Amino acid sequence: MLKNKLLRTTLIAILVTVALVLAGPFAGGLYYTGCGDRYVEQEWLDRAVAHLIALSLRCDDPDLQGVLDYTIRRYHKIGPWDVMVMPLANGRSGWRTLGCNCPWCPGITIDPEVLTYPISDGAMILTHEAMHDYWPYIHPLVDARIHKMEQFQEHNKWLRP
Ligand SMILES: [Zn+2]
Repeated sequence: MLKNKLLRTTLIAILVTVALVLAGPFAGGLYYTGCGDRYVEQEWLDRAVAHLIALSLRCDDPDLQGVLDYTIRRYHKIGPWDVMVMPLANGRSGWRTLGCNCPWCPGITIDPEVLTYPISDGAMILTHEAMHDYWPYIHPLVDARIHKMEQFQEHNKWLRP
């Protein structure tokens, strides 16, 4: 009897915790559904994706090309739980948050400031956030790949619009 009550309490605690963790990003997606058309953001995203396509066509590293193709395929559309452009909170110690990808919620969020950057930088931020979809989602893995990606982009800087 006590064992069943303990099991039930544990399961309820896990479900409530999961619901609370999921609530924030999903609420952001719901909010974004009511924000109307996003022509400026979609135009920016189209240019960023065009840059990624140009890079992918010249990429001979299967790992980087896989990341580029995944980003192009998954994140080419502005919308809730796809690519959302919304102001992001800054981190501690003066860190500027330019993008966010919560692995437990579909889609990524880009700070509007990124839309003022050169399109090649914006495309790299988009790619960085897409890399957080790859298990185990952590930064050391993302940083190593994004460093390789930036070097590859530097070799192809003549592609920059
Ligand atoms: Zn990151």
